[in-house]
Amino acid sequence: MAFEGLADRLQSTIKKITGKGKVSEQDVKEMTREVRLALLEADVNFKVVKGLINRIKERAVGQEVMESLTPGQQVIKVVKEELTTLMGGEHSKIAVSDRPPTVIMMVGLQGAGKTTTTGKLANHLRKKHNRSPLLVACDIYRPAAIKQLETLGEQLDMPVFSMGTETSPVDIAGKAIEQAKEQHNDYVIIDTAGRLHVDNELMDELQQIKSVARPDEIFLVVDSMTGQDAVNVAESFNDQLDISGVVLTKLDGDTRGGAALSIKAVTDKPIKFAGMGEKLDELEAFHPERMASRILG
Ligand code: GDP
Repeated sequence: MAFEGLADRLQSTIKKITGKGKVSEQDVKEMTREVRLALLEADVNFKVVKGLINRIKERAVGQEVMESLTPGQQVIKVVKEELTTLMGGEHSKIAVSDRPPTVIMMVGLQGAGKTTTTGKLANHLRKKHNRSPLLVACDIYRPAAIKQLETLGEQLDMPVFSMGTETSPVDIAGKAIEQAKEQHNDYVIIDTAGRLHVDNELMDELQQIKSVARPDEIFLVVDSMTGQDAVNVAESFNDQLDISGVVLTKLDGDTRGGAALSIKAVTDKPIKFAGMGEKLDELEAFHPERMASRILG
């Protein structure tokens, strides 16, 4: 299960303080030391940990008295609120263009789950928002990627726009948007090429697609299992493309939590969705508060 180690450690730390009728500075110090270690062990970015611990300390020591809660419970409330803020605070909604179609560009490294997430997102938009998306195959370097998207389209009974491997992805994106307008698809989801590593050629191509497609959202798909690498990938995609949000995949695995807890703080871009499995209905809107509750038990 995701966050298992982190959740266990934080919950046992918290247990020690919950029942306390009086919380001394020493108690807070001990608690934050344990929280700090638990977060570092979960592969959370060390700068992020430092900022978080300082805020918890400040608020927990000088806390305002609330009659409904014991001092121990108040400290825990502070930890939960700070974890929630760290992951982006409010749940961040998906864009809707007032001049349809709304264009979403999916970017990310190979294997992160981009193509699968393209299908999942299309399914989500139809099921939850009653939309009719057009899926666009812009990964022309791997014929298997086009096939994979077409198969997803068949499973979902949704149109897939592809022009094979000879046309440039920039032209494919432009033509797809024209077709979406003609056929009244209110969302266009562009599946772009990935690489094993971030490279300039890929970024150039993505920037060109961006300038033609003028996406309302650019979602970076990252694999939560890759921890701080995911955070570094997010930083470089954001620097080059100014992404609008992140989809964190494979949260059904035993990821330690580092990516989920660091990405927003490092990139200042929200995590919008979480992939919870391989199936097309295993995508969840990401709610920071619910995630914090899950971690703290
Ligand atoms: P792409 O290269 O980024 O397009 O990656 P794919 O969409 O082909 O996905 C790579 C692998 O990750 C596939 O085997 C997917 O089934 C799997 N995958 C994608 N998202 C998830 C997820 O949220 N959970 C799990 N367990 N597997 C996922």
